[in-house]
Amino acid sequence: MLVIMKPAATTKEISQVIARLTGDGYETQLSEHDGRTLIGVVGHDMPEPTRENYAMLAGVDQVMDVSVPYKRASREFHPTDTVVPLGGQLVGSGRIAVIAGPCSVESRDQIIETAHAVKEAGAIALRGGAFKPRTSPYSFQGFGEQALQWLAEAREQTGLPVVTEIMDPGLVPLVAQYADVFQIGARNMQNFTLLHAVGESQHPILLKRGMSSTIKELLMAAEYVLSHGNTRIMLCERGIRTFETFTRNTFDINAVPVLKHLTHLPVIADPSHAVGKREYVAAVARAGIAAGADGLLVEVHPCPEEAVSDGRQSLTPEQFAQLIEETRAIAAAVGRSA
Ligand code: PEP
Ligand code: MN
Repeated sequence: MLVIMKPAATTKEISQVIARLTGDGYETQLSEHDGRTLIGVVGHDMPEPTRENYAMLAGVDQVMDVSVPYKRASREFHPTDTVVPLGGQLVGSGRIAVIAGPCSVESRDQIIETAHAVKEAGAIALRGGAFKPRTSPYSFQGFGEQALQWLAEAREQTGLPVVTEIMDPGLVPLVAQYADVFQIGARNMQNFTLLHAVGESQHPILLKRGMSSTIKELLMAAEYVLSHGNTRIMLCERGIRTFETFTRNTFDINAVPVLKHLTHLPVIADPSHAVGKREYVAAVARAGIAAGADGLLVEVHPCPEEAVSDGRQSLTPEQFAQLIEETRAIAAAVGRSA
């Protein structure tokens, strides 16, 4: 339910409505739109409140049902774009945010060299996996805390904030010591215990769409994080499974404008995991920006043929620099800057 206050509603009237809703056992979320206060109402295991009762309160203009289950993530609750602070920039405010780096952190030299290269090319944040979710238990699993330390050193040298995947809710305090953004990977998009844990932190979240998850399921995963108090969420389209196997996944271009329509959260396109082959990464990155994405997540490795994971889709620093150049013109054409 959404309570729309009159433009002239006083602070006292707004507080009275909130007090009434809270007293009735609901949680509220405030936002502003067109000079009005909107009071989003969420609750569970409770009967729908009688709309008319709330509509009669002083200062209330109208009371609406919000039909979608992702309440806090919806545009109805929060019509204006949410912006997420990252690397001195606000992701979602019009300037394309590029996050880049290797799939896995493999050595101190590898991550530091990559950090300098991606910064030089225009990235605003560094990515690198310390805990890797691998299909095979025999594949490289990541260097864990050692990798986090190397990432922190790369940040010290370059000033780039660090984005890294977290798989275990118990590791939130450790990863928070080193990283600036928690990445929730595709395989953990519905790890509700993990979503709860990162929802209680104030670290920005890069929430990747599960490879077989619907847009609605992605928004419900974001709702978990929002419901625990963390509003700094970037959604990431990273390709979904389809019958097509020539590419690793299929980038769901539709998801970009659909998400921008349904939610106020910024949307990041990950062309690397979507296509899985470096020769197609730039084209899909350009398409993502053209479709309205607020940023890109791109895998870059100083020597892709030696990468321990995802080398086939990783760009060299030179290819990455070229991709950034190409996206500038696309960003400008759709009213963004890069
Ligand atoms: C990654 O970013 O390296 C990764 C494992 O991505 P995803 O969770 O999208 O597969
Ligand atoms: Mn990867």
